Amino acid sequence: MKKYDYLIVGAGLYGAVMAYELGKKGKKCLVIDRRDHIAGNIYCEEIEGIHVHKYGAHIFHTSDKKIWEYMNQFTEFNNYINSPVAVYKDELYNLPFNMNTFSKMWGIRTPGEAKAIIEKQRKETGITEPKNLEEQALFLGGRDIYEKLIKGYTEKQWGRKCTELPAFIIRRLPFRFIYDNNYFNDRYQGIPIGGYTAIVEKMLEGAEVRTGVDFFEFRKENPDIAEKIIFTGMIDEYFGYRLGALEYRSVRFETEVLDCENYQGNAVVNYTEREVPYTRIIEHKHFEFGRQEKTVISREYSSEWSVGMEPYYPVNDEKNTALYQAYRELAEKEENVIFGGRLGDYKYYDMDKVVAAALERLEEL
Ligand code: UDP
Repeated sequence: MKKYDYLIVGAGLYGAVMAYELGKKGKKCLVIDRRDHIAGNIYCEEIEGIHVHKYGAHIFHTSDKKIWEYMNQFTEFNNYINSPVAVYKDELYNLPFNMNTFSKMWGIRTPGEAKAIIEKQRKETGITEPKNLEEQALFLGGRDIYEKLIKGYTEKQWGRKCTELPAFIIRRLPFRFIYDNNYFNDRYQGIPIGGYTAIVEKMLEGAEVRTGVDFFEFRKENPDIAEKIIFTGMIDEYFGYRLGALEYRSVRFETEVLDCENYQGNAVVNYTEREVPYTRIIEHKHFEFGRQEKTVISREYSSEWSVGMEPYYPVNDEKNTALYQAYRELAEKEENVIFGGRLGDYKYYDMDKVVAAALERLEEL
């Protein structure tokens, strides 16, 4: 008999859902995390009474009623609707790409006018079947939108040319011909009242949790502690990078407390030109309609990941997808170890997809 049924590596959303559900089934779980806190990248730190999204802004959104109800067991959500604005040089546009954007870009008013301009620009490119992000963007929105709102931002965020990136990344964003600045198409959306960390805390209530514990060290000293391992860290690191390192993008945040009540008037402002070194500025209080006297902002700088940095985004291009497949094969042979989450599955998951993936995996177990 081993001491625990499950050793869960990573106290982020995937690990926490696993711990919660397994706990309900009477399984004994130990959750460890390398960081000195739980909640992975949805962790929030309170500064000046404001929940600061320490590892990047997170807005929960889903079209899946089951997942929405699942999350509502742990929290209530507020009615925040994400409506970022984009700054390009001295111009300001609404996102996602919608009639407000088109009207500002071309001085037009109707969907017919917008469609005609996009159609004309699309024809000029000659693209019929988009094969990469650049072609996809030109195909959807024409040259002006691409040059002003997509190219610079994307190349900053990914550190790669738009011609070398997969088209699906840009298909995450809606293109619509109505005046609607809601960034997401999903049925349900909001920020948890009380913050994200509190959700994970609730999920982990029944488990034993140890933070500041490195799995690879821990395993050396405790090789037989659990029947099964759920690993939510980087899959290539798990295998000692033996097939080569997968690529990730990292983000560095420069966070400042400002002695002003309202700095930018919106939670998310994207800087889409190449010359501005950061991709966006987040003003955290606006996610929760905060009325504090001060404000906290974070500038996001994107960079290539290297050992010692935090991995945020998998780079799901052809080369990395092939390498991931090779790791996947190793993972399948690894007895009693389950891989999951954004890093374990090497997939650009949103939070709802993480929860769905965990619940699906639990069914199989
Ligand atoms: N994007 C863009 N301009 C913007 C915002 C997003 O071109 O102002 C593109 C960019 O390629 C980015 C993708 O849309 O990688 C997805 O953006 P999203 O906001 O979904 O990224 P996340 O919030 O996950 O970082």
